[in-house]
Amino acid sequence: MYTALYRKWRPKTFDDVIAQPHITTTLKSQIKNGKTAHAYLFTGSRGTGKTTCARIFAKAINCENSEDGNPCLSCSVCVDAENEALSDIIEIDAASNNGVDDIRDLRDGAIYSPERCKYKVYIIDEVHMLSVNAFNALLKIIEEPPPYVKFVLATTEVHKVLPTILSRCQRFDFRRIMPEDIAKRLLYIAGEENINLSEDAALLIARLADGGMRDALSLLDQCIAYSTDVTLETVSAASGIAGRDYLFDIIESVVRGDTSTALTITDKLYSMSKDITRLCEELILQFRNIMLIKSVPERKELIACLPSEQERLSAIASSLSIEDILSKLTVLQECNERLSRSLAKRVEFEMCLVKLCTLMGTTVSIPKPKVTETAPETFVQPKPEPAENKFVPPLKEEPKPAAKEETKPQPVKEEPKEEPVNKEEPVKEQPSVKPSDPTVDTPVVCNRWSDVLEEFQKVDPAVAASLIDSYAFINTTTIFIIARNSFFMKLFAQEENKVSLIKVITKVLGKSYIVRARSENKELEDKPENHKAVELLGKAKENGIPTGTE
Ligand SMILES: [Zn+2]
Repeated sequence: MYTALYRKWRPKTFDDVIAQPHITTTLKSQIKNGKTAHAYLFTGSRGTGKTTCARIFAKAINCENSEDGNPCLSCSVCVDAENEALSDIIEIDAASNNGVDDIRDLRDGAIYSPERCKYKVYIIDEVHMLSVNAFNALLKIIEEPPPYVKFVLATTEVHKVLPTILSRCQRFDFRRIMPEDIAKRLLYIAGEENINLSEDAALLIARLADGGMRDALSLLDQCIAYSTDVTLETVSAASGIAGRDYLFDIIESVVRGDTSTALTITDKLYSMSKDITRLCEELILQFRNIMLIKSVPERKELIACLPSEQERLSAIASSLSIEDILSKLTVLQECNERLSRSLAKRVEFEMCLVKLCTLMGTTVSIPKPKVTETAPETFVQPKPEPAENKFVPPLKEEPKPAAKEETKPQPVKEEPKEEPVNKEEPVKEQPSVKPSDPTVDTPVVCNRWSDVLEEFQKVDPAVAASLIDSYAFINTTTIFIIARNSFFMKLFAQEENKVSLIKVITKVLGKSYIVRARSENKELEDKPENHKAVELLGKAKENGIPTGTE
């Protein structure tokens, strides 16, 4: 019978475990010195070696000839443990045994001393799945365990484990395994298994596995099913990334603002039974890649794709600003979130595409449930508003889940005051903005700027200090910050500051805006009233508003 590679090559001693030396060294030394804890918590993403290490630990503390903290693998305890024939090592999958009764059973069993071994070891996998009552039952026994009982709890989601449990455990954090380390191991195993694995194929598998050795070996298994010559093409076919050109076709049409093509491709995919949620997730992954190429071009290893895809992604990345990319990612993320609860997934996704296409180069805003009834065509062919026209009302805001927001309807919109601000031309935007873009409209004073500053003060007091006496204008897409302190521009040019400010703005105003900033030292002695704002905007328009970003 064929044994899956990940089973066959599962590490048997601590020394076989790759990429977690901070954990294996400590455990070995504890075992050697007889100073093991009675409860451990192993956390980390999937396939990083948590369960494997738990099993090695269980063997090693019971091994009759443990060497340097490793199990000997030849004594009867090691051999039986390896064959899963040792009743003193008990593995429980909390995903399927998560009730209080399961843990009570465990507790009742733990009273009895081990049959053959020094220690009874309970390995509880996915421990975060336990119900609250089960956790409490577990807590009781972890608090006062019999001296011959050891616990190893493993979880991918440590934040779901009760703090009272955490505090009783010695915690080890398993790291994601670096692609290079995974690739090295794959090449070694391939050599032993007489598989022809090319280096670039190994690296692609490693990247697709996202830091998990088990996924990497499973994927290698799938590749072997295709061919014992594992090349880039084999990996791309086996992993299902082959033939995903449609993704890049969609993205390229989005970048061109070509709504028609984007919708046509989607329609075709839909008729071929493509899962819309999956499609949205794939687009998110590719936009993440584009973001990484744009922001850290030197870190190519972060991107899991074929060389030909890399070229297309790079071309897309160079045609977009980082703000555009982040905006589009936000729209996609929001769509993805709504897809999980929407019945009309297709409409939801099409709306998202239309939004991505029509808001090219300008903005991101949160689509709302109301829009669900609206046909996408409404977005495709927006009526261009004359420049003299009033403030173009953006799509109705989605009430935020936070109760706070619900009490303030329309928190975002700044209605023009009595002054005729609407006489102003739209502020000159990025060259990528289509002249007919309905989202370019007249900014007005942002009345909630002080709220933004108050909130930002809590997040980043240093940068917030440089915004003292600043003010802001806002339209449907963009917020223009005028800072008195020119030092702000320096701080704003730093990505982390910009990101945290954008987050606060989004939080307070209830939707995402493009943020532009300039410093203004002298002109304004008074707080800006609307007429003043108009004056300033005229000036801003003449000079073009420096963004301090691109
Ligand atoms: Zn042994």
